[in-house]
Amino acid sequence: MSDIKTQLVVLGAGPGGYSAAFRAADLGIETVIVDARETLGGVCLNVGCIPSKALLHVAKVIDDAKEMASHGVVFGEPKIDLDKVRSWKDSVVSQLTKGLGGMSKMRKVKHVQGYGKFTGANTLEVEGKGGKTTITFDNAIIAAGSEPVTLPFIPHDDERVIDSTGALEMKDIPEKMLVLGGGIIGLEMGTVYRSLGSQIDVVEFLDQLIPAADKDVIKIYQKYVKDKFNVMLETKVTAVEAKDDGLYVTFEGKNAPAEPVKYDKVLVAVGRRPNGSLLDADKAGVKVDERGFINVDKQMRTNVSNIFAIGDLVGQPMLAHKAVHEGHVAAEVIAGKKHYFDPKCIPSVAYTDPEVAWVGLTEKEAKEQGVNYESATFPWAASGRAIASGRTEGMTKMIFDKDTNRVIGGAIIGINAGEMLGEIGLAIEMGADAEDVALTIHAHPTLNESIGLASEIFEGSITDLP
Ligand code: FAD
Repeated sequence: MSDIKTQLVVLGAGPGGYSAAFRAADLGIETVIVDARETLGGVCLNVGCIPSKALLHVAKVIDDAKEMASHGVVFGEPKIDLDKVRSWKDSVVSQLTKGLGGMSKMRKVKHVQGYGKFTGANTLEVEGKGGKTTITFDNAIIAAGSEPVTLPFIPHDDERVIDSTGALEMKDIPEKMLVLGGGIIGLEMGTVYRSLGSQIDVVEFLDQLIPAADKDVIKIYQKYVKDKFNVMLETKVTAVEAKDDGLYVTFEGKNAPAEPVKYDKVLVAVGRRPNGSLLDADKAGVKVDERGFINVDKQMRTNVSNIFAIGDLVGQPMLAHKAVHEGHVAAEVIAGKKHYFDPKCIPSVAYTDPEVAWVGLTEKEAKEQGVNYESATFPWAASGRAIASGRTEGMTKMIFDKDTNRVIGGAIIGINAGEMLGEIGLAIEMGADAEDVALTIHAHPTLNESIGLASEIFEGSITDLP
């Protein structure tokens, strides 16, 4: 049993938590960070954003090598050494988590490893390997993140039923795998396993994959992956029976197979639930809603004035970059600075093949909100760079407010869409209009040119200069 007294405790060391802790320490606040994991980085670095991208890189190289055959260069069939693939992924993770450990030490942020729960509005008890630690704090930031959703009719205790963490472990490459849920995480992992040799079925309850993105964008994605995944839209899983020779899945809905289908693995990727209810937050007086979310104001303050909350457990979108910015706000407010979390837009990216990225208003949202908008699209079949790269399926779409000509949204589907999206996000944040983007000289031949070219299509991009 040991006691620590500190100005700030941060509960959870994911992107939100470590960003908040580092910013607070940089502003001179004595900070302790608590996490059940041995390493800093939370879900994102340990079992989320980073390991998935390391594996997607492997998948991309395999796919690119195969595609080169149509350009006149033939490589042999790839030989997969799964142990080496796994250790590449692990080395990427450990390089980053070690880096965070170093940055934490440099800032004198103390890391307490163990599971923390509130015992009062100024006290937290941490149960770790070395016993219990009581932390008395002036301020706290709750950054405890989220966990994969489980479904009651699925035998999650069977090791052939996996979630994203299980998928990232890469124990084997199943011959046939069902991805349950057509959202970003499921499709990214499906992309990896398909490239490594699995046959992938994807089942989605709604009428499109990646339901948050616009239909015209997703149509392109669905067309591109038609021969790669067997996609069952408007269909749901009603039962999974674990037998010795496989998992027998029963479907219901528009595209449901008549008989149960046998799979070697089922990846359940139907969303994530916030960890707010697991922290005894009520003992500190912090209100948690029935789903486990914690309500905060624009300064990330909960209903208890010295306790803040950030990241996945304060609401959608559950994304690392949102958590980082919220963490900075919470730390700065605690340091006495006037700061708010008030972004005009938060980008979303599916790092699938092709990538799907969008920011600001989607066309669907603009319609629902009654915005007087116009969209302009530039097909990559007309982009020199896309043609030279053999990837013309892409499209760049810009959404403008017709009253002000300002950029209010954008979406890109195609290779490197995620990298390209930053320009549209910056345009929205800075209140740029169509003319600003159209008059920005983009280098030729780049895929980014398509952002300028799409903007030129919008009538409001050409006005008389003063
Ligand atoms: P988390 O990263 O969830 O970290 C919370 C930490 O708190 C965890 O380490 C946990 O151990 C700890 N914790 C929880 N409760 C306690 C407790 N009581 N005591 C001690 N410690 C506790 N987002 C993106 O933006 N881009 C991506 O490409 C992306 N890819 C993803 C891929 C996958 C497979 C997954 C699963 C997620 C992905 N995400 C991605 C989402 C991203 O990981 C999360 O949005 C982000 O990690 C949330 O950060 P956070 O700070 O809220 O908390």
